[in-house]
Amino acid sequence: MLDTLITNASIVLPTIGIVRKDLGIKDGKVAILTNDKVSANKVIDAKGRYVIPGVIDPHVHYGVFEPIERAAAHESRSAAIGGVTCMMRMLRLYSSYKKDLLKHLTVNTHLIDYVYHASILLRTHIEEIGYCKEHGIRAFKLYMNLKDEIGRIYMDMEPYNNKLIEGYVNTYEFMNDAIEGIIKNNAIAIIHAEDPDMCIEGIKRMREMKRNDLAAWSDARAGINEKKSISFLTNFINNRCQLYLPHIGSKEGLEEAISAKRLSRVYIETCPHYLTHTMEFDLRGKVTPPLRSKDDQAALWNAIRNGMIDCIGSDHVANRLKDKIADNTVWNALAGFPGIATILPVMLSEGVNKGRIDLKDLTRLISYNASRIFSLKCKGNLEIGYDADLVIIDLEKEVKVTPEILNSYSDYTIYDGITLKGWPILTMVRGEIIMEDGAIVGKEGYGRYVS
Ligand SMILES: [Zn+2]
Repeated sequence: MLDTLITNASIVLPTIGIVRKDLGIKDGKVAILTNDKVSANKVIDAKGRYVIPGVIDPHVHYGVFEPIERAAAHESRSAAIGGVTCMMRMLRLYSSYKKDLLKHLTVNTHLIDYVYHASILLRTHIEEIGYCKEHGIRAFKLYMNLKDEIGRIYMDMEPYNNKLIEGYVNTYEFMNDAIEGIIKNNAIAIIHAEDPDMCIEGIKRMREMKRNDLAAWSDARAGINEKKSISFLTNFINNRCQLYLPHIGSKEGLEEAISAKRLSRVYIETCPHYLTHTMEFDLRGKVTPPLRSKDDQAALWNAIRNGMIDCIGSDHVANRLKDKIADNTVWNALAGFPGIATILPVMLSEGVNKGRIDLKDLTRLISYNASRIFSLKCKGNLEIGYDADLVIIDLEKEVKVTPEILNSYSDYTIYDGITLKGWPILTMVRGEIIMEDGAIVGKEGYGRYVS
């Protein structure tokens, strides 16, 4: 006897394609794909709709403006609204991992499954890579862009403590050693590829011109600086470890990364905002690396079509608008905005429904590839034996986005007022329904830590 049977479904399998079968679930796993009559305790009629593997978001910042016990609940809720079943936290500790990692790992209020990546922000973190690996962390993030006057960032708060933690990072002092440490530990390097000296120079130039528009932020950090950094990294690493390049948004950076892929294990992530927004937008769109032009956007869609982009990460930052744009200057505005809930609706609306990508390739881009790259067992697919992490989507459903429906701590979204066509109508994690028709039905703490 199955626990749940999803009938009348078109199931999208990332390596096979679309199959018209019923999907049976037992003990949280896909147990059977069949056209035979089978019995189950619960039957869900998909009414002919598509069922896809749950979205895996490899790039999420939460726990910075709210402590993790609250942030995990809020942002995993928002994730479930958007069909995300597994989220990867970019942990930023400004202290020792040996001292404080377990404080974070033992708090769990997630509704969906989650993975941790650890940032290397201090030289001492290099010695702790092995320790983090023992606790299930496989990938390490380096912020190549941080140095001198652009080296201040907010860290993750301590659990159960509301105090913002600002820290100063100078990655250049230890970057090469950190990369060697990652290689030695057979880990994955996630590197924010921007050249700090070029950024400092660009910002200085734009400020001297008295510019205060969003495009000034983009002009200060031109795509050429992404390209230069990627070129340095791929040469330096020389395929000695896997290199994951997050949030690639510029045509120049993209081309450099694509050519590096031919020779080494380089993975490219882009974000939904680079596919939908340009630097003509308002200050809500401040993000690092910055929004680009229509031209860059076309290059990204083209790379998606050619299968050159591996993952879509939201780079979600759960902040509030009044904190983000405190004094109406682009220079003091915080970088980053929420995006975890809108990955799938954006990709369905702008990708699938506009003929830029088919559903099979989409499932690779938003789920399967991330599970392969980060070695998640039993995730990212719906073949027999995989976790029943899945989403039923309605390609015809149109919803005008508001911050309220997204259920995040954030009170704004760059998609506010925009109608997206194509939405998840049911999100399931390991056989349990977490979201149905835009309402959260999952429980805090149900999510599981995934090594
Ligand atoms: Zn990020």
